Formats: sequence, structure tokens, C-alpha cells
Amino acid sequence: MSAASPYDVVVIGGGVTGAGIARDLSLRGVSVLLLEKGDWGAGTSGASSWMIHGGPRYLEFDWNTTRLSTQDAGYIVTIARNFVSRVLFLIPVLPHDKNNIERMETAMEVYDRFQPLKHAHPHRRLTAEEARQAEPGLSPDILGAVTMEEWGVDPHRLVFANVEDAMAHGARALNHARVTELIRDGGNVIGVRYRASDGTASEARARVVVNATGPWSPEVAAMAGVEVQLRPATGIHLVYPHRISNFSISAESVDGRDLLMVAHAGFTLLGTTDDDFYGDLDSVEVVEDEVDYLIQGIARVFPSIRDYRPVRTTTGVRPTLFKWRRYEDELSRRYEVIDHSGHGADGFISIAGGKLSMYRLMAEETSDAVCRKLGHQASCTTASRPLRRRGDVTHPLPLRAGHGRRADLRGAARAGANAR
Ligand SMILES: Cc1cc2nc3c(=O)[nH]c(=O)nc-3n(C[C@H](O)[C@H](O)[C@H](O)COP(=O)(O)OP(=O)(O)OC[C@H]3O[C@@H](n4cnc5c(N)ncnc54)[C@H](O)[C@@H]3O)c2cc1C
Repeated sequence: MSAASPYDVVVIGGGVTGAGIARDLSLRGVSVLLLEKGDWGAGTSGASSWMIHGGPRYLEFDWNTTRLSTQDAGYIVTIARNFVSRVLFLIPVLPHDKNNIERMETAMEVYDRFQPLKHAHPHRRLTAEEARQAEPGLSPDILGAVTMEEWGVDPHRLVFANVEDAMAHGARALNHARVTELIRDGGNVIGVRYRASDGTASEARARVVVNATGPWSPEVAAMAGVEVQLRPATGIHLVYPHRISNFSISAESVDGRDLLMVAHAGFTLLGTTDDDFYGDLDSVEVVEDEVDYLIQGIARVFPSIRDYRPVRTTTGVRPTLFKWRRYEDELSRRYEVIDHSGHGADGFISIAGGKLSMYRLMAEETSDAVCRKLGHQASCTTASRPLRRRGDVTHPLPLRAGHGRRADLRGAARAGANAR
């Protein structure tokens, strides 16, 4: 066992949330050790749909999450301008869809109010002919479509950029280092024991330990004898090794859920499922039914999807907060910073729930809670401080979207295709 090292904070979990916390605290002058049991971002963050979005879907049942994530998305795309690209959706409407074109456009008119927060363009309504002109692969049965703009990001790069910047500001960050135990002193959590992939065991002492382990947070909380209650849900994607369309396309699944075929730089993600998960978080499998379910849904609006061959799948488990009597995809994406001092584990804080699109805000609130515990007076700077990786060139491209006028579809399509 190596010698114990004193840190202000140990952050467990090198997904986007933990990496964001490590960066935020390091920028505030707090000494941090970040521990990740696998590769950076290889948990839920890497298995996401790679979107920094506001979530128009949540407007129906979770307005505040749409507001917060749109607002934070605005900060993220500004500080990480060199990592993000515009993703332009076509949302086609077929006869007997749950939303007819009027309902769909009304929803988009509401979402347009949030779009300026994240520097995105307002929607456009397209006739069936215009939509098929833009994307000839759309079904001849569509009645029309609306457009919607979001941002895409490579979550692995985003996570690693946070880790690198944390390290540049003094943090120590180790991957392939699994926390196996929390060190206790009576009611206080005073450090962690962790194991490297070669089996070497080490320990680190800290004044505060943060549990930022996403869907694993109940498991890590249990090491401190406290509870984090989640209702985890799996989601899979099919990965196609090319950009099938320059547009991303949304469709309704057989059970009425929204499916997305997302065009990223040189590949396409088709997802996602959303199912309660009770199994082993370290071995989530894809079953053939899930693949058929996704293809069936998209094929309704984009029939030629059946001609393309997915080469692999991704699987992730959403760290959604527990709620009884709700369908999985109606679960709130809100988050909670939990100080466990009231539960008999002083010095231990968990962050649970949330979305990639508001990781920065989650990291800020968790870091605020840590600083209160440390009695450290320093405020957050991550909303404005650019997130750069060594060697990255920054592009002084304007972010402001053309609000106040109807965006030209061809211009918007070019923006999507140029992916910057
Ligand atoms: C299919 C799917 C699609 C999604 N799409 C989007 C999207 O497009 N946009 C969006 O905003 N959100 C999306 N989400 C939600 C989003 O991905 C998550 O909310 C977010 O990535 C969670 O990040 P995290 O850092 O909290 O968790 P994770 O990324 O899971 O990170 C937790 C880390 O903790 C590590 N860990 C666990 N236990 C230990 C231990 N004992 N010791 C050390 N390390 C440990 C894990 O290895 C893991 O890397 C999606 C989720 C899913 C499942």
C-alpha cells in the first residue's frame, strides 16, 4: 500500500460530471485527486447520443430541466466552441402520428423561446415537398416536417478536455483506478482506497470525497453506508460508420417514443431505447429486439435505413433520479447534490441525475457545496473560461444564431453539413 496523500478533495468518477467537478475545483485553487475505474468518459457519458441539447421533449413534464439544460448548453458551446458542431434535425410528420404538424409546430414555437440561450436557430416548417427536397430519403407518405437545431459533441473529447484542464491547474487524475472502499473515521469519510488495473492498492486522504459515479452512485454511496436512490434506465444506439444524411432525423417508435438518427461528423447514431435496468452495470447487453425496435421506428420515415449496416452498438445507463409510477422516458432529468453529513457520513457528497447538456452547472453546484464544506471562498469561472486542449486551434466563428428572421433552410442545411 502506498503512502497516504492529503488532498482537499477526492472526486470518484471520470465521466463528464466528475471531470467537470475536478476542473471547476482546480480552477478555484482546491487540490483534487480524480479517480476513474475505466477509461475517461467510458461510462454513460460516452454512450450518450453525443448531444448538447435542451430537450424539447421535457417541456411537457419537466419545463425547468429544459430551461436549465438549454441555459447551460449555451455556456458549454461557448467555452467549448472548438468541440461542438451544429446538428440540424428534420422532424417529419406522418398520418396518424401522435403529433400532427400543427401540434409539432406549436411545440417548436415554444422551444424557439429557449433556442437563443444556446445560440441555435429557430425552427422552420416545411411542406412535404420541401422536406423531401432537403432529404430525398424521407418517406413519400410524410405530410410535412419541422426543423430543429441542436449541438453535437464528442463526449470523450469533452471529458478529456476537462481532465486535462484540471491537471493543468494542479489536479492529479488517474484512470483505471477503481475505488474499492471509503476510509471512515467514526461518522466522517476521510478518504478512499483504490486499486489500479495491475492490482496495486493505494489510499488517499481528503477533507471531502465526492461521489460522481453516475449510475454507479448508489453502489459507491453504499460504501459510506448511505443511500442514493436512482431509477436507472438503459439506452442503446446503433452505430453506422458513415453520415447517412446531412440531417438528423426524428421519428416515432411503435410505442410512441421519440427516436433519433443523429448525423455526427463521419458516422450516424440511431437511438435510443429507454428501459428500466436492474442488472450488472458493468455488463449491459444489447438484445436483438432492441435493434429491430430502433430500425422499425426510423424505417417508417426513412425507409432506406434497412439498406445500411450498423457496425456496432453502444450501451449506457441513465443515472435518473428515483420516481415511482412513471414511464422511463417520462422520468425527470433533474439532478440533486446530496450532502450526506445529515445521514451519518460527513465529508461525503453525491451528485446524482442530470444530463451531459448541463454537466457544467452540476459541477458548479457540487463544487459550491464542496467549497462550503472546506470554508474555501472562491467562485466558479467555468461559465466563461474557454475549455481548450493543448494544441487545439480556436476558431473565432460567431455563435450567434439569426434570430428575429426566418433562417434559410439551405443555409441551415449547409451549417449542419459543414458541422462547425
Ligand atoms: C443512451 C443514452 C443517451 C443519452 N444521450 C444524451 C444526450 O445526447 N445529451 C445529454 O445531455 N445527455 C444524454 N444522456 C444522459 C447523459 O449521458 C448522462 O446524464 C451523463 O453522461 C452522466 O455523466 P456522469 O459523469 O454523471 O456519469 P458517467 O459518464 O457514467 O460517469 C461515471 C463514471 O464513474 C466511474 N465509476 C463508477 N464506479 C467507480 C468506482 N468505484 N471507482 C472509480 N470510478 C468509478 C464509471 O466508470 C464512470 O466512468 C444519455 C444517456 C443515455 C444512457
